[in-house]
Amino acid sequence: MLVNISIEEAKEILLNQDIKINTIDIPIVESLGYVLGEDIISDINMPPFDRSPLDGYALKSDNIKDASKENPIVLEVIDYVPAGYVSSRKIENGQAIRIMTGAKIPEGADVIIKYEDTEFTDKDVKIFNYLKPNSNIVKMGEDIEEGDIVLKKGHLIGPADIGIFATLGRGIVKVYSKPKVAILATGDELIDIDEIPREGKIRNSNSYTIAAQIKRIGGQPVILGICRDKIEDIKNKLKDSLEWADMVITTGGVSVGDADLVKEAFQEIGGEILFWKVNMKPGTPIAVAKYGNKLIFGLSGNPAAASITFEKFVRPTILRLMGKSKLNLVKVESTLENEFTKVSNQNRYVRAITYYKDGQFFTKLPNKHSSGVLTSLSGTNSLFYIRAGNGPFENGDKIEVEILDYPEVE
Ligand code: AMP
Ligand code: MG
Repeated sequence: MLVNISIEEAKEILLNQDIKINTIDIPIVESLGYVLGEDIISDINMPPFDRSPLDGYALKSDNIKDASKENPIVLEVIDYVPAGYVSSRKIENGQAIRIMTGAKIPEGADVIIKYEDTEFTDKDVKIFNYLKPNSNIVKMGEDIEEGDIVLKKGHLIGPADIGIFATLGRGIVKVYSKPKVAILATGDELIDIDEIPREGKIRNSNSYTIAAQIKRIGGQPVILGICRDKIEDIKNKLKDSLEWADMVITTGGVSVGDADLVKEAFQEIGGEILFWKVNMKPGTPIAVAKYGNKLIFGLSGNPAAASITFEKFVRPTILRLMGKSKLNLVKVESTLENEFTKVSNQNRYVRAITYYKDGQFFTKLPNKHSSGVLTSLSGTNSLFYIRAGNGPFENGDKIEVEILDYPEVE
């Protein structure tokens, strides 16, 4: 078993796991924010015909070569074609057809002159200027050509994409499904949130924080509740949830204490431990197991440790299950607005509040950093990584932070 590995090794091991990634077919309006699970290939040209981009007159460019303010050319108007209709007439020399935006260019015409530049009656139109052939004509296939791969598998679906599906006549598309992630809290000291703690007990908060973290990145959390520090109970809950969940996260019971049975439970149900303990603070005690083609993450019970190790290790796997390819948190250079005097012998992630002002990032640190403290995580949106041995840091130092809620772009 791999024990006490580096953060980089842990990430590498996780990335290399073959996991089962599912797709589903869903109605296009619901596909916003999902990742496309198929290439979208066009079987049409868009527009399907040469069309007019404005209201005006269709005619032959050659006929208006000598048109000027002083000597307008007068053409006979032989038809009228609104959008959605097609003229059956062919334009000959000396003729024009009145045409509306979106209508198909009539046969014989190679230019459109806009209304505003003409004078017209029902019977004829005066043209005052020359335009060369193909002016004001939108060519067939300008937007999409038949056979184009319009959108690629792996593309993050935005509003315009849903319009593209509609253009191509697709009411249903294949997307990567949002993984169902089961969350199990373990610990004899834990009680449900609607209970009054007796001596020695605390309410289970981890399941809720983690459910929200899963939701924030688009997964489907399922809170399983609390399990005592009893190996048989933990094994049963794990086995049951692995029947339907795409991934399981446990909190608590993964350290070296007498009641820390989670790692053994992973093994006893047939899971292969990929690693146990990562060289970082908070969150050293973390165990990850592979069960078939699913991963089981055993996170520390300490609220900040569970939350931060979720972001570093669980989040990339959930994103992979959702078909995403940008798995790392975005790193930015920032200016520290506090001091951080502790020199750690361990790699450390410090929760941080990073904001953008006048073209620069600035970072403030809360004053409590312990892995058991949840409240100082509130309002934080970033992690300040300190490599073992680095520091102390002073107000004004340039640092690098990883942003947790960076807007998703491809
Ligand atoms: P453990 O990882 O089981 O050693 O627990 C570490 C610390 O986290 C202990 O103080 C636990 O009481 C606390 N803890 C464990 N599970 C939870 C939970 N679900 N919610 C809040 N605190 C917890
Ligand atoms: Mg415990």
